Amino acid sequence: VLLSKAEFLKGVVAMDGLPPPDRAEVCMAGRSNVGKSTLINALTGRRALARASNTPGRTQEINFFTVAASHYLVDLPGYGFAEAPVAVKEKWQRLLKAYLTGRPNLKRAFVLIDGRHGAKPVDEGIMGLLDKAAVPFQAVVTKADKGKARDRDAALERTRDALNRHPAAFPEIILTSSETGEGVPALRAAIMGLAD
Ligand code: GDP
Repeated sequence: VLLSKAEFLKGVVAMDGLPPPDRAEVCMAGRSNVGKSTLINALTGRRALARASNTPGRTQEINFFTVAASHYLVDLPGYGFAEAPVAVKEKWQRLLKAYLTGRPNLKRAFVLIDGRHGAKPVDEGIMGLLDKAAVPFQAVVTKADKGKARDRDAALERTRDALNRHPAAFPEIILTSSETGEGVPALRAAIMGLAD
């Protein structure tokens, strides 16, 4: 089953722009270029639903999609762009913290990790925020089709180590490839299982 009828609802730049918390919500976070837009498109079976937001320093929006009337799927802007101006980063950090701590219907965050690299310090930064906000999160490894198996295994091991350091983390990692479709149904099932 696809996450059918996923529709872009709105981009939010401040807490007062959030839609009413009237349905189950999940959010997706990850470093820029981790493959988040591609995975959201694969999940929803649509092309170009999530716009690639890879421009450094552009307005940071929290993008809301409605999914089958039962869920909000929330696309958080990619992090890790050193080029973004400090003021932009700080504004974004404040909004992110406010969102994560103040969203009663947020069931789970999915933290996307590039399968070639494993969890990096900046990923652990977001994991630390999720711990503090007490938002349960699950790691989703992307691009599982890429690179050598040995490098992927090492990266997976680093990701496991990182998860062990974070109390809000689920131990189970979802391995995905938007290229082959591996793991996409498992992620979809995890999302749809989080009903209100
Ligand atoms: P975002 O910045 O996190 O939204 O990343 P994108 O979705 O724009 O993807 C970044 C790059 O990685 C693009 O060139 C994608 O084609 C590529 N990519 C994304 N997912 C996969 C995947 O599962 N396998 C492979 N091989 N490439 C991928």
